[in-house]
Order: sequence, then structure tokens, then C-alpha cells
Amino acid sequence: MTDDVLAVAEHRRGSLRDVSFEVATAGREVADATGGELHLAVIGGDVDAFAEELNREGVDAIHTVDHGEEFNHDVYAQALTALHGAVDPAVLLMPNSVNGLDYAPAVANRLDLPLVTDCVGLAVDGGLVATREMYGSKVETTAEVDLPVAVTIRPAEWPAAEGVGDASIEAFDAEIDEDAIGSTVTGYEEVAGGDVDISEADVLVSIGRGIGEEDNLDLIFDLAEAMDATVSSSRPIVDSGWLPKNRQVGQSGKTVTPDVYVAIGISGAVQHVAGMKGSDTIVAINTDPNAPIFDIADYGVVGDLFDVVPALIDEFGG
Ligand SMILES: Cc1cc2nc3c(=O)[nH]c(=O)nc-3n(C[C@H](O)[C@H](O)[C@H](O)COP(=O)(O)OP(=O)(O)OC[C@H]3O[C@@H](n4cnc5c(N)ncnc54)[C@H](O)[C@@H]3O)c2cc1C
Repeated sequence: MTDDVLAVAEHRRGSLRDVSFEVATAGREVADATGGELHLAVIGGDVDAFAEELNREGVDAIHTVDHGEEFNHDVYAQALTALHGAVDPAVLLMPNSVNGLDYAPAVANRLDLPLVTDCVGLAVDGGLVATREMYGSKVETTAEVDLPVAVTIRPAEWPAAEGVGDASIEAFDAEIDEDAIGSTVTGYEEVAGGDVDISEADVLVSIGRGIGEEDNLDLIFDLAEAMDATVSSSRPIVDSGWLPKNRQVGQSGKTVTPDVYVAIGISGAVQHVAGMKGSDTIVAINTDPNAPIFDIADYGVVGDLFDVVPALIDEFGG
């Protein structure tokens, strides 16, 4: 085993996802602690263009596996098992995403590695000390695991790696066994309302139960249009069937990291905050001055959304 870290990038429909740059930051931190190098793996898609984009400060080597356009469980599992054999890292670091949770257990199983999922903090103290959250983010626990280890990290917990690096970029021949590929991507279908991806939005206008009735949502879409923003929501709005599930922010919804998050009529329950606390600037509008959302808001308006939102629409020239 080397002291190195191997982190895995993620892409979808021709674009690298934000978490690719977050695994680079987390990987660099861990590699600094182990005294090793940071290797990135990018599998499938336009690997050469992705490698150029991933060449950020702190990345020592990028390995490309040119196989297929979209994510495929079997290709990722085979490629990472082979690449792990070549790099022999102390820590294999993957995103705690839908894709990551698909292949990470398979890779850990093939390599007989312990797997710690959904980590929000990583340190090295002999072995790896991984921090995880439990009970809806109310409690933090640490798991101490001997190296080598595999981990998945929660998106939006580490900042994206920046700058331009001078990593070596090499094609890796993973010798993919085509006969062992049991699944094929036959097409890509957006879920209903899937025209938006709230996890990639720069500005989110998020609505909660304070909106009262479904018909009132028009007001929120008007504000979003005036602000050139995307509409997201808390869970009760989705549970009521007023917005599709892919608009839900939170523990059982999506994790978002926009530049601006405007929480309107949202109390700030711990399960909601878990999904948006990484936003750069948080604005809260709520009639209740004691609403927990104000504890994490950068700007707060104590007021009725039916007064405040129309005033904002006017202000933004809607
Ligand atoms: C396992 C589990 C997973 C969960 N996952 C999620 C999740 O992913 N995402 C999520 O959001 N929740 C989730 N929840 C639910 C969560 O606990 C809360 O119930 C939910 O976030 C509350 O949504 P809300 O803030 O919209 O509603 P409420 O808590 O009812 O808050 C409504 C707020 O609107 C304010 N308000 C009312 N009228 C107005 C007005 N006219 N103008 C301005 N403000 C007004 C009120 O003061 C109040 O603060 C989960 C719960 C569990 C148990």
C-alpha cells in the first residue's frame, strides 16, 4: 500500500458534476495527512476534456478510462478495481451520490476494503478517522478504520478544488471484460418536472408550508422569474403533490449549494437545513422571529411572505 489517495470524478450527460471537484479537495486534505499523492479517476464520457477540467491545484495524477458515454455500474466497478490495483492507495474516495452508492460497495467488496459511507469529515490518525452524521444531523459520530479503506463523501461538504494544476494525465487500460457487463444504458429519461436540476442552480427561491395553498405558488414562480432563479421547496410541498420530488431540498431530497438560497415560509427543520446549509448566502422570510431558519440565515425578513414577495418582485423589476 502507498500513502496515496485515489478519488473518483463523476459526470452526467456530458458534464462533470460539482462533486468531482469536491472529492479533489477532500482527497488533497487526506493526501496531505498521509504524505501521499492525489490521483483522480475519470471513467467514461469525454475523458480527455474532463481530465483537462479536473486538472486543478493539488491534483498530482489523473487517470482516464475511455469506455462508454454514461455511467455504467459494471464498467466503474471493473475499472476502479483495476486502477486501485495499479495505484494501491491508502484511501479510495468516492462521491456519496446515486452513482457512487451504486459502485462503491461493489468495489469495496471486490477489494475486500472496509467502506465508510456519507462522510462529512476525514482525518488521519494512524488509520482514517471518518465523521458521519446520524439522527437527521443531530449527532456526529466518528469511525476509526485501518488503512487501506474506501469512503464515500457527502456532496457539498468540501469546497470545490480551484486553480490550475500540473497533474500528469494518463490513459489507463482497465482491460474491461465486456462479457461481464451485465447492464446497458439504453436511454436517458428525465423524471416529471426534470427540466430543472436544483443541485446545479446558482440562485434558488425555496418555498415551504408557509405558502398555504397550491395556487399561491404562482407568486413564488413570479419571484423566481424576476430573480432569474430556480424554484425549490421543503418536503411538505412535495408531499402535497404541489411540486415534483426533484425540487425537494433536504435530507430525503437534494443537497444544494447555490450562491443565494431564499427560504420563504420554511421553518428550518434540521432535515431541511441538512440539504441547504452549504449555500453561500441564505436569506429567510418568515412571520415567526423564532423560526430556526434565522439561526443560519445571513439576511432575514420577519414578515408575511404575501407582503414581502410582491415587494421583492417589484424590486427585481418583475
Ligand atoms: C426522516 C425525515 C426526512 C425528512 N426529510 C426532509 C427533507 O428532505 N426536506 C424537508 O424540507 N423536510 C424534510 N423532513 C420534514 C421536516 O422535518 C419538516 O417537517 C419540514 O422541513 C417542514 O417544512 P416547512 O418548513 O415547509 O414547514 P413548517 O415547519 O410547517 O414551517 C412553515 C413555516 O412557514 C412560516 N410561515 C407561515 N405562514 C407564513 C407567511 N404567510 N409568511 C412567511 N412565513 C410564514 C411559519 O412561521 C413556519 O416557520 C423530513 C422529516 C423526516 C422525519
